[in-house]
Amino acid sequence: MSRIHILPPDVVGKIRAGEVIDRPAAVAKELIENAIDAGSRLIAVHVGSSPDRLIRVQDDGAGMTRDDAAMSIKRHATSKLEHDSELSSIRTLGFRGEALASIAEVSRLTLSTRSAEDLTGTQVEVLGGTTIQVSGVGRATGTTVTVEDLFFNTPARLRFLKSRESETRALSRVVWSYIFTLPGIHWRFLIEGREDVDLPPAADFLERWSLVYGRGAAAGVEGSVSFEGEIAGVRVRGVLGTPEQARANRDHQFFAVNGRVVSSPTLGAALRQGYGNLIPSDRYPIGLLLIELDPSLVDVNVHPTKREVRFRDESRVFQATRAAVEEAMRRYVPVGVALGSGTGSAGRPFAGVDATSPSSSEGFPAAPSASQPLLDGLEIARALYAPPESLGSDVAREGETGDLREHLAEPEIAIWQLHDRYLLAPIRGGLVIVDQHAAHERILYEEARERLFGAAGPTQHLLFPRVLDLTRDELDMLLLHEPQLKRLGYEVALFGERQIAVRGVPAAIPEEAAIQALKRVLLGAEDADASGDPPEERLAKTFACHAAVRSGQPLKPVERRALVDRLFATELPHGDPHGRATYVRVSMEELDRRFGRR
Ligand code: ADP
Ligand code: MG
Repeated sequence: MSRIHILPPDVVGKIRAGEVIDRPAAVAKELIENAIDAGSRLIAVHVGSSPDRLIRVQDDGAGMTRDDAAMSIKRHATSKLEHDSELSSIRTLGFRGEALASIAEVSRLTLSTRSAEDLTGTQVEVLGGTTIQVSGVGRATGTTVTVEDLFFNTPARLRFLKSRESETRALSRVVWSYIFTLPGIHWRFLIEGREDVDLPPAADFLERWSLVYGRGAAAGVEGSVSFEGEIAGVRVRGVLGTPEQARANRDHQFFAVNGRVVSSPTLGAALRQGYGNLIPSDRYPIGLLLIELDPSLVDVNVHPTKREVRFRDESRVFQATRAAVEEAMRRYVPVGVALGSGTGSAGRPFAGVDATSPSSSEGFPAAPSASQPLLDGLEIARALYAPPESLGSDVAREGETGDLREHLAEPEIAIWQLHDRYLLAPIRGGLVIVDQHAAHERILYEEARERLFGAAGPTQHLLFPRVLDLTRDELDMLLLHEPQLKRLGYEVALFGERQIAVRGVPAAIPEEAAIQALKRVLLGAEDADASGDPPEERLAKTFACHAAVRSGQPLKPVERRALVDRLFATELPHGDPHGRATYVRVSMEELDRRFGRR
């Protein structure tokens, strides 16, 4: 590392300076960033039970010579920046040369360090900005900075601190952000009376992440997913928690841009949107996002504490990040779900999407092909809604239906129905438990969207049109949504002043369910909430919810089979349109563990 020097005034003028140190978390962040910049392989963070009393960061990095050690606590003393022209291409986390000086001014700071070329180390003791003593000390290569009695000489700032708990939480978040961002570093993290972890270097992000968050409770081995991709010069990597792991707050989201831990509303929004409606609107995914892009497109100089970044092109970063998350979640139900007997483990469920796989040059690696449904949607839905005789329609020809039922009558694997509510199906690595209503809802929702935005769906003509009495509001809704209802497959005619005749309903939905769904759509009001969904989206959701098989409805083996196959052929099988889970996976590992086999 080059020698420390004081930045010339013209460079200082270009750096947004300010009150860098406002709370214990900021101290930890600066000390950790210095340790990282020094090329450390091991970083140990020790925090007192009250973080303003004690924060110590110890590293095995490059260390400092005696002269540099004394210099390092001066304002604008840095070894990382010389000319303002370098400001746009900063690769180190620090560059202002202010952190140690600012911390030293408001605390009792002890710096102990030794560079590789020196035989003895140096210890510098500073009290409220005044150097008390510089002495020799025997120690290993590396640096230890101890900060005690933070803000002892600035009582106003001390008073501004939040409770011990929330200061500790904020500090802990900073440390964990770096722990996740740099899995190759050996971390030790000790908070007196609370936390004591020792994390040797991990192979990749997912390994480090899983140690803390697991891979998704019931989801077994195929829980959290690590992913990687590049769009328009923005490289996005990280780990995404399962939808079931979503939390009520954003505490478990970690972002880094070019290696710097940051907070960014843009990235937060992109992460949330990437999950779409897989999670309810009031929940937040957990995950780690690492963004890399040309440093000249990032303004790290915005915030004095460097906590927030700004992108020159916010929308490009937003789009790329959202697309990457969306893409990863689309592949969330992987090849491992293909039905199959046998007890072998499902192997690498996310083959091609782990952190080590290279990304293809044009963009994200191609998604593994979705498992093909055995039958097309119409046939499946019909199988789901036997008996076929009830379909007095032009699409249900006897022979065809007979073949179909025979074909499905002997599925290789039995799927059980539990209390007319859940379907249990063996899969390669264990068992899936499917919520029959939620699953069907997901299927019908995707079908409805296809029809609303793509080719209109087939109609099943009713032998006897159904006449419905409508209120004025319902009639308004009908007129408003007529084109969309037609696309779904409804055929409706006005009949009298406040009556309609339903002559046709979406094919393969039983008449009664189709009529109920129509009534709910016309009722409208309750769905026209502040969800912000476009009308088509609301329509698709309402329709799917009310046309889907109910919980409590017995299903024949062919229907169960069709439902499971069809679910896993949808784009996003693991959640219903409201974000509830459609299935839970129990791995063989999980069962073995519970039965004490391992
Ligand atoms: P900056 O990181 O912006 O350069 P700091 O005040 O944080 O400013 O640190 C001043 C200088 O002290 C750094 O440029 C670096 O040369 C040296 N330094 C600080 N901490 C360490 C450390 N843990 N290991 C080695 N050198 C360090
Ligand atoms: Mg620094």
